[in-house]
Amino acid sequence: MSHLLSIEDLDRAGIERILDRAESFAEVSGREIKKVPALRGRTVVNLFYESSTRTSSSFELAAKRLSADVVNIRAAGSAVDKGESLRDTVQTLSAYDPAAIVIRSPHAGTAALVVPWTDAAVINAGDGKHEHPTQALLDVFTLRRRLGSLEGLNIWIVGDVTHSRVARSNILAFGGMGAKVTVAGPPTLLPRGIEQLGAAATPSLERLHEADVVYVLRMQQERMESAYIPTLREYAQRYQINSARLRPGQLLMHPGPVNRGLELSGEAIDSDVSLIGSQVQAGVAVRMAVFYELLTVPA
Ligand code: ASP
Repeated sequence: MSHLLSIEDLDRAGIERILDRAESFAEVSGREIKKVPALRGRTVVNLFYESSTRTSSSFELAAKRLSADVVNIRAAGSAVDKGESLRDTVQTLSAYDPAAIVIRSPHAGTAALVVPWTDAAVINAGDGKHEHPTQALLDVFTLRRRLGSLEGLNIWIVGDVTHSRVARSNILAFGGMGAKVTVAGPPTLLPRGIEQLGAAATPSLERLHEADVVYVLRMQQERMESAYIPTLREYAQRYQINSARLRPGQLLMHPGPVNRGLELSGEAIDSDVSLIGSQVQAGVAVRMAVFYELLTVPA
């Protein structure tokens, strides 16, 4: 594999290989000196055109724990502010001969667009509402660690599916690992044709009790050009996941950042069925394994 643009770049064996390696990197992250020399002397560029806390910090830490030299560029404060095009920015940064460019952008397809402009391996860290493959990998890793396997698991993805790149990558990854996926939310936030990715779709939470895992999505207000729901209050009333809607034994996930009190109640976030903290923790080990797979394993 030369690039990671979509979860479809990986088959089940490829996902399992990356997650097995992530297990050994999780062990490195538990040591006092959290470093291995795998990428010593190599350069990783993190190019973020959209805001990020977890993804950018974990890609940075992952590259540093593999001993790479890391350059972090945020659109604000860079020459992008001065009107430099994406192509010129990528070609300029490629002059440093990076082994990998990690890119996040508000536009679907950006990671794929960049590939011909650089010799570096390109990793999609989220492109508009298209895909976020490393989020899917860390979510599968988190569930596999907790439950052993995703085979036969019933996973419900609830909320703003229309604007969610996480939903697209996770439907593919969860399904590919043997889980049965259902997406639920207001009809205006369920994109037409989502079933083609392999998920059932429903506007009702009536059968939510059937889920083993409830994966809640953030309301992506920054991507909404018009009103998709009457009011946020009504959304919370009908779709918020809280302890009244969860049954005992269900696990709760969310990619973050959470709108506390909107798609998820505060008590649910902080409850002991929440895997949100484990998801964040998994991000570093899984991204180390992605770098390792792309930069050290022959394609
Ligand atoms: N952090 C995730 C993403 O970048 C989820 C979200 O923003 O809601 O897609």
